[in-house]
Amino acid sequence: MTTHSGGCQCGAVRFRVEGDLGNASICHCRMCQKATGGLFGPYVEVRSEAASWTRGRPAYFRSSNKVRRGFCRDCGTPLTFEYDDRTISFAIGTLDEPRSVQLKEQLASTERLADFAALAELPVHPEDEPKAAAYLAGIVSYQHPDADTDDWPPMREGR
Ligand SMILES: [Zn+2]
Ligand SMILES: [Zn+2]
Repeated sequence: MTTHSGGCQCGAVRFRVEGDLGNASICHCRMCQKATGGLFGPYVEVRSEAASWTRGRPAYFRSSNKVRRGFCRDCGTPLTFEYDDRTISFAIGTLDEPRSVQLKEQLASTERLADFAALAELPVHPEDEPKAAAYLAGIVSYQHPDADTDDWPPMREGR
């Protein structure tokens, strides 16, 4: 059976999904913009019984009378969108292999912030430009790797 894993940026919260992923969508509603800090909320839905937390547990914010949203209380990564007990939707970027998700639809398109065609046409900042390349070469990532680990260093102090 296929399994999918994922987690927050710091690695305090990790999850696994057994079997295939369900419907994947992006939602342009104002709540999804606010909850993710992004242009839209990208979520893939799975059956609750297929999902399990393998390290830590999310904290929750009840964003409306119908929905609660899970996030990592340590690093703030948005993790879930949950509107009933039968399903759980994971933020697509938290999957270890987000490219495995095939988006199917857009929701709340009237609240869309940007024209996608225009996004693709924005000028591209070259990563091999010397100043950018020097900066990128000096980055030491503290982000959890895109795979399950037996353990993982806790949050570093003094930053
Ligand atoms: Zn975290
Ligand atoms: Zn939404």
